[in-house]
Amino acid sequence: MAIMAERYTPILVLRRENKGNQDLLFTLYTKDLGKIKAIAKSARKITSKLAGHLTQGRIIKARIIDKGSFQLLDVLSGGGKCTNLEVIKFLHFLDSMTPYNQPDPHLWHIAKEVVGRCQVGPVVYRELLSIMGFVSPFPSVLPACAWCKRRERSPATLFYTPDLVFLCSNCGAGVKIDEDELFPIT
Ligand SMILES: [Zn+2]
Repeated sequence: MAIMAERYTPILVLRRENKGNQDLLFTLYTKDLGKIKAIAKSARKITSKLAGHLTQGRIIKARIIDKGSFQLLDVLSGGGKCTNLEVIKFLHFLDSMTPYNQPDPHLWHIAKEVVGRCQVGPVVYRELLSIMGFVSPFPSVLPACAWCKRRERSPATLFYTPDLVFLCSNCGAGVKIDEDELFPIT
C-alpha cells in the first residue's frame, strides 16, 4: 500500500464551495504547498467542526493529506480571521494571480500580514505585482496605461486582473468592468 503524505500546514481560506450533498471544496493558499484545492469530506454535516472553522479569510493550521488530490482532515483551533470587504477582494486577487502547487514564502508572509492587520492597500498590491514580475519594484517607475498609453499624462494606477494589464484611472472608470477585478497600485 502506498504511503500517503500527510502534513500540518498553515492555510488561508480563499474560497469555499459546496460539493455534492455533504462535502466542501476549498481553494486554499497554504504556507507549504502554495495554492491548492482541497476537499473536506462530510464537512457540511451539522456535527462537523471543520465547517465552522473554515470560512473565507480564516488563517488556521490544518492537517492535509495528499491522495492524488488534497483532502482536508482536521484543523487546530484558534487562528486569525478577517472578513473586511477589501481583504475579501484581496483573497480574490491572490486566487486569480497565483498558480497551483507553487509555494512562495514571500507571498505567504504578505498574505498572512494582510489578514492579521485586516487591512490592505495599494502598497501591498504593488509589492505583490512586483514579486510576480509585472511591475518595477521602484515606486517612482510607473507603468503606462495599456489602453490609452499616455504614460506622462496619466500613469497607470490600477491593475486589471482578467487581462493582466495596468490602467490609468480614466480608463478604469470609463469602462464597464467588474470593480472586483480592478486593484489600486498607487
Ligand atoms: Zn488609460
